[in-house]
Parts: sequence; structure tokens; C-alpha cells
Amino acid sequence: MTDGLECVFCAILAGRAEASVVYEDPSTLAFLDINPMVPGHTLVIPKTHRPNLAGLDSAQMAALIQVGNRIASAMRLSALRCEGVNLFLADGAAAGQEVMHVHLHVIPRFAGDGFGLRLPPGYGRQSRRVLEQQAQLLRHVLEDETSGGIHKGP
Ligand code: 5GP
Ligand code: ZN
Repeated sequence: MTDGLECVFCAILAGRAEASVVYEDPSTLAFLDINPMVPGHTLVIPKTHRPNLAGLDSAQMAALIQVGNRIASAMRLSALRCEGVNLFLADGAAAGQEVMHVHLHVIPRFAGDGFGLRLPPGYGRQSRRVLEQQAQLLRHVLEDETSGGIHKGP
């Protein structure tokens, strides 16, 4: 599905599938999720088919987060019930991604809306030693990236 031909979000972009659009600009489309977790739950997508976050360049990434932020502000000002907002992005099936076209969830929240994240067993404060080991694993890759270039930086 690398060309996006069978992608449901590409079908929306092409006008072959219906969507309730809330915002559009040359690089980004935002529309309501068909299974809203909370009324107003919106998805923001790049207009180019990219399955994963790593496939976005800096401008596409910036557009996604800037549009998400504008929609979050609009939710707070709108007549929808919105006392807070969650931005959520599932990158990869193991992270819960079901539609393989990058999308940012913008979810209005209010006390008692019934939506929440489930914490794993054993959740709690970790020792500095273990935290440092894990931070080192990430620093190692990030330092390689700045010297060799894994990723398109800002
Ligand atoms: P994911 O689990 O990949 O982060 O989220 C995919 C989201 O896309 C789900 O919340 C699902 O309800 C939404 N979705 C799937 N198919 C359609 C569709 O055809 N139209 C719209 N508007 N949303 C969809
Ligand atoms: Zn697509």
C-alpha cells in the first residue's frame, strides 16, 4: 500500500470516501474520526501518503503539529465540551496504529468523559541507574544520527 491506493485516508483525500472536514490547507487535512472517543475527536493527516512518522519530513511534521494545535485551540473555544485536549499519535501496529497513513488524534477532554489510558502492571518510579541505562540507548542513536545522519533533522 506504499502508493496509498487502498488507503482509507487517501480515499478521503481523493474524495472517494466521505468525511466531515474541519480544516484543510495545501499540505494537511483534518476531519472527524468516524468512531469518536469523545465528541469532536479529530484526525489530522498529511496530504501525502506516509505510513509512518519516520517518513515525514520536517515541514510535514511541523504542519501536523501546528494544525493539531490550532484545532485544539478551536475545540476549547467551540460549543463542544472541552476542558482539556489530548494529542495522540500511534506510530506502528504495536503502538496501536490501525490506519497506515500517519494521523494525529486531537481529542477534546472533559471530566468524566470516560476516556483514559491504561497503565501497565508495575508502573511507578524507576531507579536512576535503570533510567540512565535507557537514556544511554537513545543518546547512542541520536549521537550517531548527528554525525552520520539517520533522520532528516530540523
Ligand atoms: P489508529 O488506531 O490508527 O491510531 O486510529 C485510526 C483511526 O481512524 C480510528 O480512530 C478510526 O476510528 C479512524 N477511522 C478508520 N476508518 C475511518 C474512516 O473511514 N473515516 C474516518 N473519519 N475515520 C476512520
Ligand atoms: Zn494514505
